Amino acid sequence: MGNKKNWKWETDQRKRFINPYNFVSLGEKKSSGSQKKEETYTGSIQCTMVTKTPVFVPNSSCEDAFDIKSQINDHKNYDFFSYHNLEKGEANNHYQLPVIPGSEIRGMLRSVYEVLSNSCLSSIGNELLTGRITMPKNPGIVECKDGIFTLYKANKNKLQTYKNKKGEAGYSFNIQKGTVIGDNGKQYKNNQKVRFDMGEKAVDYLGDGGKEGILYIGEASEGKVYDGIFTRKGKVESAKSEQIKEAIQKMKELMEIYRNESINLNLKEKTHFGYPSVHIPDPLELEERKETVSFAVWYEIEGDRLYFSPACISRTAYYTTLSQFYKGYEPCENIHNLCKACQLFGTVQKKAAHSSNIRVSDAALYPLPDGVEKEEYLKKEVYYPTPNGFVTLQALASPKASAKEFYLKRPNSCLTWNYDFKTIGYKGMNKEVRRLTSKEQRIRGRKFYWHNPAMKFSEQQPSELNVSVRPVQKNQKFKFEIYFEQITKAQIEELIWTITLGENDPKGRHCHKIGMGKPLGMGSVKIVVDRLLFRTLEIKNGTIEYKIKASDAEDYDLDIVPEIENPFENEDSSYYKELMIITDFHALDGYIQKDPNIVSYPLGYNGKAEAANREASHQWFHGNRFMGSRNEMQENIQYTLPEILDLNDSEKDISLPKLNMKRQK
Ligand SMILES: [Zn+2]
Repeated sequence: MGNKKNWKWETDQRKRFINPYNFVSLGEKKSSGSQKKEETYTGSIQCTMVTKTPVFVPNSSCEDAFDIKSQINDHKNYDFFSYHNLEKGEANNHYQLPVIPGSEIRGMLRSVYEVLSNSCLSSIGNELLTGRITMPKNPGIVECKDGIFTLYKANKNKLQTYKNKKGEAGYSFNIQKGTVIGDNGKQYKNNQKVRFDMGEKAVDYLGDGGKEGILYIGEASEGKVYDGIFTRKGKVESAKSEQIKEAIQKMKELMEIYRNESINLNLKEKTHFGYPSVHIPDPLELEERKETVSFAVWYEIEGDRLYFSPACISRTAYYTTLSQFYKGYEPCENIHNLCKACQLFGTVQKKAAHSSNIRVSDAALYPLPDGVEKEEYLKKEVYYPTPNGFVTLQALASPKASAKEFYLKRPNSCLTWNYDFKTIGYKGMNKEVRRLTSKEQRIRGRKFYWHNPAMKFSEQQPSELNVSVRPVQKNQKFKFEIYFEQITKAQIEELIWTITLGENDPKGRHCHKIGMGKPLGMGSVKIVVDRLLFRTLEIKNGTIEYKIKASDAEDYDLDIVPEIENPFENEDSSYYKELMIITDFHALDGYIQKDPNIVSYPLGYNGKAEAANREASHQWFHGNRFMGSRNEMQENIQYTLPEILDLNDSEKDISLPKLNMKRQK
């Protein structure tokens, strides 16, 4: 790669891309909702949703709706969501009435309402941030004696546990239990003190006599031959007892991530086992122990921070947590001080459960024309027409907060940064780092996807990495209702504005995005409000009667109108301006006219014609981090994600160049 001296990353000025998502910025501080007692209303808003590009929401009752898995193992394939529980292969000759679940619509409306009302980031958790800081890390041994922690440098003596290239077996071991059978037939446990002799390359005797070391069994991985026995060298003087304690605690949190099936997806696939044999003791408990305890770790030091990890090239957990990056916008916890979105849509935070005042029905397709044959009509007119009834989507990259050049604001004057530090320069092999100030710890904002009126499905071969789906095509109409209970007139007006994005016109420019495939241009929908109904309660002759009254069109501007007055008082804010650009169906028209394929995942090419991942988007990130540096150890970030408002600035370009690795002449 980059250490091949005659290969270099270069900018390809002829080919550019617009990243499918961008960020609507946060304000200074989240709003708080009104505490005033005002008159409230109960009723519903009847809406029509029109699809502007193909839309897809999966019916997850069957992962093999088109019976493709028998030919392509692990290729998931779904029919559109409906109330029908599908059998394998059933979608091949049947077409169900499509339904868009209310929960999808509700989530979509909430995220737009959160921007407009400057509310909290309800959907962001407080997960541990992880990444790779330096590679490779150093082997070390932690010792705890009389409550004091010490870190020692270590040698890793190779212990063959897997077959080598010649096919020769190594020491017999059990990764789940973390045990190895020695040459003396005894069973040794991970992190236990063992005695051994070294051969030419690796340990050739494990048993009695010889040198003392600590056994360390890591994770299984492809091509792996050795685990190790760590032997102690000199003390790491800069690592203080308190720091070591903190680093152990942080590593415990990291191990939980590696062992969490919903985060480490490799666990289910059985391509990663979550370091089953690595047990990190609780530092508080260690302090209390009478006997001295030692265990092996991999460590790295950056600035005044110490980091431990379970392997030489594994991820590291940062000390800064995600919530520090969106301070002021944490999910509401105080029931007496909820933001506007939590007031209207509810919140389920531990301490602040507040039920929603809104319920969204599923959206049903408009009734079919009279006299048509149902399945034939659905096939030809409603679903996206393809020869075999489905389309195979380009593999969707999972969103990664580790793409710091997109997700985080660039800190002042630095070459690169992570969640804890920025690097301001390199001196030989050393980095000059500074801790990020709290001002520099900022996420770019709330993620939204661009609309792409020119979207087309590209030809894709089904594989285990992508999915096949049956989308609804554009210009399909769905009906749904939003039921509200005891909300104020102001909230009704805000809700209507959120639904319509300010124009109650099916031909309006401002659209929402729903369902799967948003980065590929799918999911654009325009919603209009048809009717507003109020329910009143009257007691007549001792019985309760509900009365439904349609709204006065004049009061609520519910005619088809190109513009509704914005009730949010946010028009001067950047977030309002940015939202109005990124929800504009035609925002990118100027760029798309020049290049219909410009909306794309980052484009990079690593120069290896035969490599399967030669054009994967991570190649761009790699190029972006190293094209300005002399070697693979010195990150130097060139490009960050352009800002939405750059679109209005004729001097600026919101696209980014493709990056290619090229052989230098
Ligand atoms: Zn909130």
